[in-house]
Amino acid sequence: MYRTHTCGELRLSDTGKEVTLSGWVQRVRDKGTLLWIDLRDRYGITQLFLEEGESKPELLQAARSLGREFVIRVSGKVSERESKNPNIATGEVEIRLTSLELLNASKLPPFTIEEKSDGGDELRMKYRYLDLRRTPLKNNLALRHRLSIETRNYLDSQGFYEIETPYLIKSTPEGARDFVVPSRMNPGEFYALPQSPQTFKQILMVAGYDRYFQIVRCFRDEDLRADRQPEFTQIDCEMAFVSQEDILNTFEGMARFLFQKVKGLDVGPFARMDYATAMKLYGSDKPDIRFDMQFVELNDLAKNSGFAVFDEAELVVGINAGGCSEYTRKQLDGLTDFVKKPQIGAKGLVYVKYNADGSIKSSVDKFFSEDQLHGWANRFGAKPGDLMLILSGKEESTRKQLNELRLEMGNQLGLRNPQVFKPLWVTDFPLLEWNEEAQRYFAMHHPFTSPKTEDIHLLETDPGKARANAYDMVINGVEVGGGSIRIHDRTLQKRMFSLLGFSDEEAQNQFGFLLNAFEYGAPPHGGIALGFDRLTALIAGFDSIRDFIAFPKNNSGRDMMIDSPSAIADAQLNELYLKVTAPDK
Ligand code: ASP
Repeated sequence: MYRTHTCGELRLSDTGKEVTLSGWVQRVRDKGTLLWIDLRDRYGITQLFLEEGESKPELLQAARSLGREFVIRVSGKVSERESKNPNIATGEVEIRLTSLELLNASKLPPFTIEEKSDGGDELRMKYRYLDLRRTPLKNNLALRHRLSIETRNYLDSQGFYEIETPYLIKSTPEGARDFVVPSRMNPGEFYALPQSPQTFKQILMVAGYDRYFQIVRCFRDEDLRADRQPEFTQIDCEMAFVSQEDILNTFEGMARFLFQKVKGLDVGPFARMDYATAMKLYGSDKPDIRFDMQFVELNDLAKNSGFAVFDEAELVVGINAGGCSEYTRKQLDGLTDFVKKPQIGAKGLVYVKYNADGSIKSSVDKFFSEDQLHGWANRFGAKPGDLMLILSGKEESTRKQLNELRLEMGNQLGLRNPQVFKPLWVTDFPLLEWNEEAQRYFAMHHPFTSPKTEDIHLLETDPGKARANAYDMVINGVEVGGGSIRIHDRTLQKRMFSLLGFSDEEAQNQFGFLLNAFEYGAPPHGGIALGFDRLTALIAGFDSIRDFIAFPKNNSGRDMMIDSPSAIADAQLNELYLKVTAPDK
């Protein structure tokens, strides 16, 4: 028998029991006559105890030869500890050893396996099995497991079927770049790994399955911006005979259920905001609404007073940082440097200090009278003690820059507590997005998204203005997921493809199966997909998804542990028709 109990199980009430435990040696503390070992497994840490004179000498000798991460089996009696550790669940007891057996030795690990490791990212990824032994990682994966079980419980209770869809599918030119897999049996042809099961879940609706879900791996060969993984997991869902409202309610219900189950937290009903409002008030389609600081536009008040920067700008817009009028020169310079960073790209920052004594002072005093500045303060709803921060320039880029500044101020003022959750639906996204480079429209969500009925006529006159029945779930400024009501009419779907620059033939080649299916009684349907890695990280209060995935890839898309991608042998290349063998001379 390897164990009677786990290392996280024993309590004071177990005192006197003879037990056997197995696990890894976290550390050995040798005080000469007294010796302690911390024994660790997935469930926790239990202290083992040996004493010169009382314990057998060979036991003490065996304990002294242990190193970190050795695997041992021990037996002994549970006893009350003299100095208790309130920080761990087993902290009131220790095991007085009567036997100790080495099951396996370990090399010295290249980094410490503690709450906080001293290993760098790459090293920890190379030795992922050691990193995964650390408590924070274990907690993350435990949370992920719990969430996946509760997701299934919720969706099952709502009548969803979990149905698997294939991983070897067909490459399509829309969306991100595909990962492709050569087909040995079909020389010169390739499968693609799914960017999402989108078309399959729609086909399942045509097939009458009514409610589908899958916790599914998706693959996108995108340039890896920080914290993107080439393979990631979605909670992918589709429903038939539903309106947008039905979908929002179902998945708001799911998110609330999950927060309740894993955090004991009622996050309350979701706020709602349409895309146009989100852009106008926050300069972002995923606003963090844990704090206000909404955008205030000043064109009518700030232009035409001789300040060329404003006069030439398409938009003058700012935020009110409440209580910040005492910001020092250095702090203000810091903010100016922040907005001028190349990633943000503003030319400069104008500030107005509404001092506590009621006086007003700005960085553009030369051009604006106190009265004018008071007029601005009024528009901002500013009080004495506040600081107004103003940007100007091209409309779209200025809003984006101010969004960054707003988030930075949120950080500086401690308004973005990761343990506070403010969920939001952003709705009515534009259907299409113009791409300058390609000189054509792209679907903002994907080509299967339905325009709003009242906007269908715009497809003929002004497609860029058409809004979609598309929505995103946003929590704390993070896009947790998105979806849409789909087109279920063949003619409208073909029209959509042609707007996206597909010829009839191309559309038929790429998506013929879907267009054909739409001729056999496709029900109205819609769905959503939530980023499962991201949702898990968010619920835990973290930005980065990497440590919520057991075996993630690094920023260059490499798996450091198995060292992949890697070259393959010529024979394998030949077999896959990826390399023509040189003909014999
Ligand atoms: N397939 C979409 C995505 O991956 C989600 C959806 O529309 O359901 O973003």
